[in-house]
Amino acid sequence: MKLSVVGTGYVGLVAGVCFSDSGNHVVCVDVDGEKIKKLQRGVPTIFEPGLSEMMRKCQAAGRLSFTTDMKSAVEHGRLIFVAVGTPESSDGSADLSAVLDVARAIGRFMDGYRVIVMKSTVPVGTHLKVIDALGAETEHPFDYVSNPEFMKEGAAIEDFTKPDRVILGSTNHAAAEVVRELYQPFMRKSERILTMDPASAEMTKYAANAMLAMRISFMNEIAHLCAGLGADVDAVRRGIGADRRIGNAFLFPGAGYGGSCFPKDVQSLISLGESNGCPLLLVAATQKANVAQRNRFAQSVIDHFGENGQGKKLAVWGLAFKAHTDDVRESPAIVGIRRFLEAGFAVSAFDPEAGDQARDLLGKAVEIQNEQYEVLRACDALVIYTDWPQFRTPDFDEIAKLLRTPTIFDGRNLYDPGLLAKRGFFYSSVGRPTRSPEPRSVTENPSSPRD
Ligand code: NAD
Repeated sequence: MKLSVVGTGYVGLVAGVCFSDSGNHVVCVDVDGEKIKKLQRGVPTIFEPGLSEMMRKCQAAGRLSFTTDMKSAVEHGRLIFVAVGTPESSDGSADLSAVLDVARAIGRFMDGYRVIVMKSTVPVGTHLKVIDALGAETEHPFDYVSNPEFMKEGAAIEDFTKPDRVILGSTNHAAAEVVRELYQPFMRKSERILTMDPASAEMTKYAANAMLAMRISFMNEIAHLCAGLGADVDAVRRGIGADRRIGNAFLFPGAGYGGSCFPKDVQSLISLGESNGCPLLLVAATQKANVAQRNRFAQSVIDHFGENGQGKKLAVWGLAFKAHTDDVRESPAIVGIRRFLEAGFAVSAFDPEAGDQARDLLGKAVEIQNEQYEVLRACDALVIYTDWPQFRTPDFDEIAKLLRTPTIFDGRNLYDPGLLAKRGFFYSSVGRPTRSPEPRSVTENPSSPRD
């Protein structure tokens, strides 16, 4: 099939590459000329496992190309996917300006029938606005399919090609069938396509993200109470996750959720509820709890040093909002680092993939280094924000040697508190009893999680 994808960010690029990989001829278009130049050279603009190889293979096969020329992209694709950003606007609602600009441009350049497929996350009712904006620019017929995206950054290719479900929201059965056909290669084991009306499809995306964010905030609140009462949230997490009605996913407490989706989508759903006279109390509490959690974790580090960080230096491991991505949008690490700087701490940081992106946000205030252990030298504590695999079984002796004092604040609960205490660390994590270092006997040789 010939298709075009408008917007080559995380969603558009992954969708374009995956559809091309399954044999379709895909043109990806973006307004960002620098991005397109890089992509044309075969260099992905985001870090996503498996993307680079797949992208180059499709380009070499002549099935995937990148352009800034909207007209040629609209002329190419019978199906046009829209995957531009829908950031939070100043009043908290989703900013639809890019989506509506794209709709008008598609209308202007259409030279025959097209199916418009909306992948951007848009508030309920947006399909009517897009249909109006596009229809005002063209005499040609078109159909609209809402196809919200559920991929996770860091596992986007896997999620896209093996989705739990694909949602298609349309009032036109034939148009939905064309899109269904496109997804068939990803449905070989079982059919997981759900069709519905566009408003329900739009709502499904927001409800899913709000539910996942709510589970995280819920566990963060339980973790806070566990810490106060001397219970271990990790045991509680396993205890409740074993209940099939609850399940294990999204129950890990941490330093708060972040990223380009949960914070803005939760906010957008709150706004949608308010503007429709239906305040969403649970969703509002989810957001409030998340802000509190991000602050609480950072504050626990600051308090350890007595409020004033002058003369103290912190090393941060992890800048991306989660592992396997270079996305630092709304990352709890960025929020925390800004608080550390305000409190007077000097900060150095390391992330395997997100260093450059964080530098763009933080400027020169933070020393961002390229080496995981060197970043610890002469720091007073290590603060962990992201659960990259390489942080999970580190060389604790090296950490202790490089830090001024063996102190770890772990926003991801990566280590065993008992073991860390035995190795002489002050170790503070989320919702688990904080362990002070135990005196090390001469004969004792505690095994590290690596052993
Ligand atoms: P992004 O910011 O990474 O990329 C958006 C791209 O659109 C940018 O490259 C930008 O230059 C381009 N763009 C903006 N205006 C344009 C225009 N008029 N014409 C052509 N290109 C234009 O965004 P993203 O993370 O890929 O998210 C896109 C949408 O998908 C959002 O609505 C988001 O909420 C949703 N979504 C994102 C994820 C995710 O994991 N990132 C997952 C599911 C859904």
